[in-house]
Amino acid sequence: MSVLFRSIRSLLLLELVRGMALTLWTMFTGRRVTVNYPYEKGVLSPRFRGEHALRRYPTGEERCIACKLCEAICPAQAITIEAEPREDGSRRTTRYDIDMTKCIYCGYCQEACPVDAIVQGPNYEFSTETRAELYYNKDKLLDNGDRWEHLIAANIAQDAAYR
Ligand code: SF4
Ligand code: SF4
Repeated sequence: MSVLFRSIRSLLLLELVRGMALTLWTMFTGRRVTVNYPYEKGVLSPRFRGEHALRRYPTGEERCIACKLCEAICPAQAITIEAEPREDGSRRTTRYDIDMTKCIYCGYCQEACPVDAIVQGPNYEFSTETRAELYYNKDKLLDNGDRWEHLIAANIAQDAAYR
C-alpha cells in the first residue's frame, strides 16, 4: 500500500468511519456479538486447558500411578510429587502439589500422563484473593476431578480420535 494512499486514508479517518458503520449495522440488525457473562458463557473447545484436576476410575481408585512423568516434563517446575508403595504393592502418590502461580498452562503434564490422571479441565473460574489459595494439594486436585469428571471424560472421548 503506497504512502500516499495510507495518508489519504488516515486524513479521511476511513478506519474510524468503517468501525462506526459496523457498530451501527450491528445495532440496527440486532445481531448479538457478545455474551452476557457471567449469566451466559461462550462455547469451550474440548481441548480447552483450564484448571487442573486429578481423576479417579469409576471404582473411586486414583488413576495416578506416581510415575512422575508430569513432574519431569513441567517446564515451569510447578509440580511436586512424593510417592511410596502401598501394602498391596501398588504405587501411589503421598503428595501431589501444583503451584498454580508458576503454571503456564502449556498442557504438557496432561500430554505426558500415561493414564489420563492429571488433566486440565474446563473450569476457568478459579480466581482467588490470595496466593496461598493457588498452591493446590492432592486433595484439592482430586476434588476438582470429582467435580468435573463428567465434562472431562466427555471432552477426552470427543478428542480421542485426534490423539
Ligand atoms: S500445564 Fe504446563 S506448566 Fe502447568 S503444571 Fe502442567 S506442565 Fe506444568
Ligand atoms: S499424574 Fe500421570 S504423569 Fe503424573 S505422576 Fe500421576 S500417572 Fe504419572
